[in-house]
Amino acid sequence: MLEIKNISVMIDKNPILDGVDFTVDKGEVLVLLGPNGAGKSTLLQTAAGLLKPTSGKIVFSDRPSLDELAYRRRISTVFQSPLLLSDTVENNIACGLRFRGFSRTEIRTRVQLWMNKLHISHLARRQAHTLSGGEAQRVSLARAFCLETELILMDEPFSSLDTPTRRELVSELRHVFSETNQTCLYVTHDLEEALTLADRIAVIIDGKIHQLDSAQNVFLRPATPEVARFVGVDNVIPGRVIANKEGLLQIESAGSLIEAIGDYRQGSQVFVCLRPEDITLLPITAIDQASSARNRLNSKITQINLQGPFARIQLDAGAQLTCLVTYPSVKEMDLKIGDQVQAVFKTTAIHLLPAGKKSR
Ligand code: ADP
Ligand code: MG
Repeated sequence: MLEIKNISVMIDKNPILDGVDFTVDKGEVLVLLGPNGAGKSTLLQTAAGLLKPTSGKIVFSDRPSLDELAYRRRISTVFQSPLLLSDTVENNIACGLRFRGFSRTEIRTRVQLWMNKLHISHLARRQAHTLSGGEAQRVSLARAFCLETELILMDEPFSSLDTPTRRELVSELRHVFSETNQTCLYVTHDLEEALTLADRIAVIIDGKIHQLDSAQNVFLRPATPEVARFVGVDNVIPGRVIANKEGLLQIESAGSLIEAIGDYRQGSQVFVCLRPEDITLLPITAIDQASSARNRLNSKITQINLQGPFARIQLDAGAQLTCLVTYPSVKEMDLKIGDQVQAVFKTTAIHLLPAGKKSR
């Protein structure tokens, strides 16, 4: 449906996008995920035909020569601020259809349908400026969907909403996507949103695509250390493979010995990626025969940060580790800075990435 072909954008000699290359397939929701300043909005504006790339091109629906106006009529957009006219909700939703010359009956049918689907029928006669942020964003979604364009582009539509409202809208949007088969390029910096909405995720960092993959792979098997950190893998630890016994690796890192599964040769430099919630803490004296976790590192607690129901704990195990423990278990174990504990994790919780050249 949409081919982004080797797009680069320079602004004032600064590279903003660097050879971005991917395709959005018909019927899919492709989420462009990345931190603030990564170049997501720049890419979306390029895809919308609002910004001319320095090099590369956008091919829509196999028609490279579509002129600008014709192209813009075949797509619709939703932005972070809803950009509503000072008019009623129903007139706001209808405006794009009127502009495109649909009949009055068709306009009425579609506006009703989309107000229903987005649960805003009771707001039809309300003036746009009296709406809450969530309601206003529902109106802008209805306005985009009712055009039934081949492609919708969305740029962080929910990022200024409070968390409960955002979650509700994200889950309803997922539902609308699966009902309609709408093709969409959706931009966000929010991992949770991406995991809920995406058929595939393109991770963009510093103007480059680092990974284009299923949501599950981006989350569990990030392709680069930067993606790993962005998806919440707090432990990205450099190490060296010192033994490989039929795929069971021993990795040395800052004096710690970590066991993992993989196909790296002895001597390879790797990054050990480990999510903080995959580390369990046990008292230093505990001997837990039942656990199948092969990694048990004696560690010292160097920092405890309470974060609502969780505590993020820094450990010195030789290697520096971060783990996430529930608040009740911090209380139960009476964890304090300076305590010695065992950091326990399974080989299967570890995802390895190559570091340096001669790795695999
Ligand atoms: P994102 O949407 O991922 O947060 P943007 O695409 O808005 O990122 O911006 C990417 C980078 O490009 C940022 O570093 C931003 O400062 C820079 N940038 C964007 N637009 C302009 C502009 N018109 N002039 C100069 N720099 C810009
Ligand atoms: Mg942006």
